[in-house]
Amino acid sequence: MKFLALIIIVLIISCIFYSFRPFINRGDVSIANDKEAKPKAEDYAQQREMMVEQQIVARGIKSKRVLDAMNSVPRHMFVPVGYRRGSYFDQPLPIGSGQTISQPYIVALMTEMLDVNSDDVVLEIGTGSGYQAAVLSTIVKKLYTIEIIEELGMQAAQLLKSLEYDNVEVKISDGGLGLPEKAPFDAIIVTAAAPEIPDPLIKQLKPGGRMVIPVDNNSYSQDLLIVEKDKNGNIETKSTIPVRFVPLVKGEKKIE
Ligand code: SAH
Repeated sequence: MKFLALIIIVLIISCIFYSFRPFINRGDVSIANDKEAKPKAEDYAQQREMMVEQQIVARGIKSKRVLDAMNSVPRHMFVPVGYRRGSYFDQPLPIGSGQTISQPYIVALMTEMLDVNSDDVVLEIGTGSGYQAAVLSTIVKKLYTIEIIEELGMQAAQLLKSLEYDNVEVKISDGGLGLPEKAPFDAIIVTAAAPEIPDPLIKQLKPGGRMVIPVDNNSYSQDLLIVEKDKNGNIETKSTIPVRFVPLVKGEKKIE
């Protein structure tokens, strides 16, 4: 009897372990190395379609440009191999160096809020995996994206290049300082949480432009803000929903 109980317990533990296997980080956060989980394009395309219907359209995102972008960018390529099977799930995922790729809905929502088009030159702060950059690059004319962690930035730059998102330029530096040499921008998106809206970013926004940025609100979450600069340079800020992003860190000095 005891023996039978033992076998049942071992079986249950094995089943639990097996179901969680895809989510166990095996320490391999390499995005480029694709040997372990060769993508089956059709499977991922189907998962992507479901992601768009169930997580994005169902929550009220309507912009055709945004939906087309979310349907076309292969999110699984921006996720480390060990997490790839969960890349279209309704959640953020780790990408290494303590950072995360945002939940698909949040990427779509921030892209819709940014309200950009094919004439726009846009700045992103917080390249991370490069996924948000890829989504935006399908809509805008030119995207500059800044990452402070060199390893992540280099990896994203390489991946974006290999996937032929040719209108994206990745810079390794402190995004809180913006990118004065390419300013002003039609839109700025910040994908890390700032204690307040950085002044250089407000300065580098074109009159008539807008910024989407999560800002700390003294609680567990942050407020996702839409910041608009009118034709006269006046700033108007609207708070939308609570979000959770990794913090925008301050660089010691500008890295070139
Ligand atoms: N947009 C990313 C997710 C961003 S996670 C994606 O689609 O995957 C936030 C990123 O902001 C992290 O990679 C972090 O290293 C970066 N970051 C934090 N502070 C920064 C700063 N001051 N300048 C530039 N990047 C910064």
